Amino acid sequence: MTENTAPRVRIAPSPTGYLHLGTIRTALFNYLFAKKEKGIFILRIEDTDTERSLPIYEKDIIEGLKTLGISWDEGPDIGGPYGPYRQSERKEIYREYIKKLLDEKKAYWCFCSPQELEEERKAMLAAGIAPKYSGKCRHLTQKEVEEKIKSGQKGVIRIIAPTSTTIEFNDLIRGKITVSSEIIGDFVIAKDEETPLFLLANAIDDSLMKITHVIRGEDHISNTPRQIIIQKALNFEIPKYAHLPLILAPDRSKLSKRKMETSFVEYLKEGYLPEAILNFLVLLGWHPENDQEILSLEEMIKLFNLKRIQKSGAVFSVEKLDWFNAQYIKNLPLETLVERIKNFVPAAWLEKEEILKKAVVVERDRMKKLSEFKELAEFFFEIGEWEVETLRWQGMSLNKVVLNLKNLYDAINKIDEKDFEISKLEKEIMPLAETLGRGESLWPLRVALSGRKSSPGPFEIMWVLGKKETLSRIEAAIKKASELL
Ligand code: GLU
Repeated sequence: MTENTAPRVRIAPSPTGYLHLGTIRTALFNYLFAKKEKGIFILRIEDTDTERSLPIYEKDIIEGLKTLGISWDEGPDIGGPYGPYRQSERKEIYREYIKKLLDEKKAYWCFCSPQELEEERKAMLAAGIAPKYSGKCRHLTQKEVEEKIKSGQKGVIRIIAPTSTTIEFNDLIRGKITVSSEIIGDFVIAKDEETPLFLLANAIDDSLMKITHVIRGEDHISNTPRQIIIQKALNFEIPKYAHLPLILAPDRSKLSKRKMETSFVEYLKEGYLPEAILNFLVLLGWHPENDQEILSLEEMIKLFNLKRIQKSGAVFSVEKLDWFNAQYIKNLPLETLVERIKNFVPAAWLEKEEILKKAVVVERDRMKKLSEFKELAEFFFEIGEWEVETLRWQGMSLNKVVLNLKNLYDAINKIDEKDFEISKLEKEIMPLAETLGRGESLWPLRVALSGRKSSPGPFEIMWVLGKKETLSRIEAAIKKASELL
């Protein structure tokens, strides 16, 4: 790897669950880095855990990333020069390297039972030494190993870790990291000759896929020295490493597993926009030099710089996510917003496209999530039951309510249908409303039209409903109130 080669980075999710925000953030940072540096972004599926990996999770991860606009240059779905890109299809490769390590005596079979290991660990702790594997099985002869395997003894394969030295790497975010080899010990790299563990498969693939920069979560930082040991043992190039800050809860504690693993699809179902989620995530640990907050994917690419990623944990706040979502809802082109909202409303509303569109116009600033639209806009389609009492503004009499509504009815009736626009309606009706008393007229009018204590203003509602429905609702309210006089 020379300094001049175009970077090659990857996201390497394990398909053991649905796509979640942690993976999206890592994918996004890798994607932005690749785009910014004119490099290659790779998707590799790490499905060596055959019990927990499922094809539906892989599908969900791939579709979710695509929905977000994150695309890759090489991956299991599109192939590429260093494939296959699914670890379950790379068994032959792992077998070859495990064999190489065993043949070169850089790794060995270990048959210590969990109990033996536990006893060893306790003894070391009691002696005040940092516990690590003693290396007991390192000295087994080939013959002894073969016999144990033949007799059905369960074993694992360990790599010989260096001793009396330090493993160093220069983390691009955290700076120089030095770990004493004394605390590592010979660690397990494979269950058998064809079943590598994560540490090994991941390190082999990074090298064979010519990954230049491993950008991943800080939870992997303790794996890196071990992976460097593996890469050195195999004479592989060692990639550069960058560990992204942890995502923390608002009280800076570890984010709950439940929150961390809520799937992206759940967020979509709640009415979060993919654009807002990306924007929220990119600022979890990074911000541009100009402190711009609202960033499109193109702007992120333009402004992204690995050097500006922070070391300290990034706080995940749902309020902040809601704020971003509200901003995107406010600013999305109307047609796009209407199309997306269609997934959140009853089928019957789709037949009233004009009302739906107008309702979106008047309600969009009141929404944090698309799922809130249904509740906010229900009354435009069906006013439903409501309390006559709601019509009173600050204890005014129902007599006055009826009188004012009648006056308003007459005035509205005179307005031409084509003048049913918010500003025109306001201009026509406000003088009368001032005479009748603002609160005493506009409040009952708004309630007559919406049946609610809170809603957009009466002129906005009238614009959405149109003349006929407006008059019919006022009439119904007059009737309802008159019955109690
Ligand atoms: N499969 C690992 C994970 O999902 C990948 C870690 C890495 O990026 O190296 O956490």
